[in-house]
Amino acid sequence: MLPFIRSDLAQLTAYTPHTPEGLPHAEPTHIDHLDTNESPFDLPAELKQKLGWAFEQEIQSNRYPDGGHAALKQAIAQYAIASAQLSETALSASNISVGNGSDELIRSLLIATCLKNEGSILVAEPTFSMYGILARTLGIPVVSVGRSPERFQIDLDAAQQAIEQTNNPPIRVVFVVHPNSPTGNALNEAELNWLRQLPDSILIVIDEAYFEFSQTTTLPEALQRSNWVLLRTFSKAFRLAAHRLGYAIAHPDLITTLEKVRLPYNVPSFTQIAALTCLAHQQELLTVIPTILQERDRLLQALQTIPQLQVWQSDANFIFVRLKPEANPNPDAMLTAVQQQLKGQGTLIRHVSQGLRLTVGTPDETTRLIERLTAAIALITAA
Ligand SMILES: *Cc1c(COP(=O)(O)O)cnc(C)c1O
Repeated sequence: MLPFIRSDLAQLTAYTPHTPEGLPHAEPTHIDHLDTNESPFDLPAELKQKLGWAFEQEIQSNRYPDGGHAALKQAIAQYAIASAQLSETALSASNISVGNGSDELIRSLLIATCLKNEGSILVAEPTFSMYGILARTLGIPVVSVGRSPERFQIDLDAAQQAIEQTNNPPIRVVFVVHPNSPTGNALNEAELNWLRQLPDSILIVIDEAYFEFSQTTTLPEALQRSNWVLLRTFSKAFRLAAHRLGYAIAHPDLITTLEKVRLPYNVPSFTQIAALTCLAHQQELLTVIPTILQERDRLLQALQTIPQLQVWQSDANFIFVRLKPEANPNPDAMLTAVQQQLKGQGTLIRHVSQGLRLTVGTPDETTRLIERLTAAIALITAA
């Protein structure tokens, strides 16, 4: 380790984002990317043409992007209002901050709340790994509690105990995902009630990355509470993962703080135009959601016929499965083998939290996934 590097970073390894390295030789279009929960559909050709034209005509590459994001925040506020059938005055641009992916907003929230040993964060595993990863890179302690093995409900007794007993520093932020990744379950009433009774000295982050699939949102309630913040993203249903845009919806005072800690030109000009264009064409882009949900249900039914698998319902565009414990003494080794076999055939899936997380793809991708997974599990559990 170089002598000038912070000592606690020596223990951390870099998060390895998804790279296509190690794949069999194939054109990218021959690979089924069912490991990162994106939309399987690229933007329609006409929209891409529109964006190409905008790139040529509207963007001056030598100029910095709009660092105030006014138009974008305005359009996002309108979308958020419509998405929850709120009144026109329920929220405005002053309730919105945008980031280079919601990952940036997660980091900004951590900087704004916990840095300088002022706070720890609470997560319920298994959940989205970024909260813990980003916290640790900032030297922020991460307290984790579990979930019930049957339905992945947060262990609320353990969570309450963690809130009451964590000092030096106390828990300042609770991160939840609605619906959770990798397990696919939306927050239930018991979990929401627990969040509601937390003191307003604790920030509640509700990550609704999969809102367009779940069609369930805590937005109306979040707007009534100064300590709730919603995160959403353009990386999933809006098909803009390549362009990196997320947004936070919260009380204007929290938004002002997020604006203080962000980098001045965090969202590139092209990304801003792409997001505005997608919002203007939201109806067309979101028409595929019912198809994706139908495919999810078809995948779910097919998975339920594989006898070795335990399969969970999902409120999102992915499904979580595990090997049934009785049949399988070493599930992680077996799941690694299953994942490798599918990778060799060109289907990428995620092995995480002693299970597999399967993104719902196009109908063809789902058909191939069902065939390949059924064969791989039969082969590997027979060995
Ligand atoms: C995919 C995902 C995001 C999106 O992150 P971006 O940085 O906006 O791409 C956020 N939260 C969760 C839980 C996710 O699964």
